[in-house]
Amino acid sequence: MHKDLQEILISQEELDAGIKKLGERISRDYEGRCLTLVGVLKGCVFFMTDLARHITTDVRMDFMMLSSYSGAHSTGVVRILLDLKESIEDCDVLIVEDIVDSGLTMDYMLKNLGTRRPKSLAVCTLLDKPSRRRAQVPIKYTGFTIADKFVVGYGLDYNGIYRSLPYVGVLKKEVIEGKQ
Ligand code: 5GP
Repeated sequence: MHKDLQEILISQEELDAGIKKLGERISRDYEGRCLTLVGVLKGCVFFMTDLARHITTDVRMDFMMLSSYSGAHSTGVVRILLDLKESIEDCDVLIVEDIVDSGLTMDYMLKNLGTRRPKSLAVCTLLDKPSRRRAQVPIKYTGFTIADKFVVGYGLDYNGIYRSLPYVGVLKKEVIEGKQ
């Protein structure tokens, strides 16, 4: 375990098994259709590539990057830093996110992509932290529901690092306090 972590919340084996199950469900639900996965950068990268390899129907992959807001500005104002390369009109679209916390980012994504006339639009998140929800967003696929803890690893960062850890863990309090 990385020295800055207080515990591993979801091991590599648990992630593998959970993502395989998600891929199987998605494959059944979208059988015979071409699915467009829209990943929210950067947190989605490990999850999206692993998930896509468990989906047996045809898949397109596209990405968006949004500006993050700080707690002090959590008004739901989100800006697009990188937009989709392709049109999603008449496509079956699945948004792939690392974590849904307040729900404000996903609420924005759903409203924004909804205006582009996709055939269908749904959400797949690796982690769900429902205790902090401020916007009620429909989540079709959830990997793991977690308590209100700040987690890193498997795509999730703190100050840009820890994304490459192969598991999801909880940072030690002193690491967060020491860097602020
Ligand atoms: P929301 O808009 O749902 O509040 O937050 C979504 C974004 O906040 C996530 O995509 C992620 O970047 C960040 N976030 C929320 N909770 C955590 C967490 O526990 N750890 C990390 N590393 N990022 C988080």
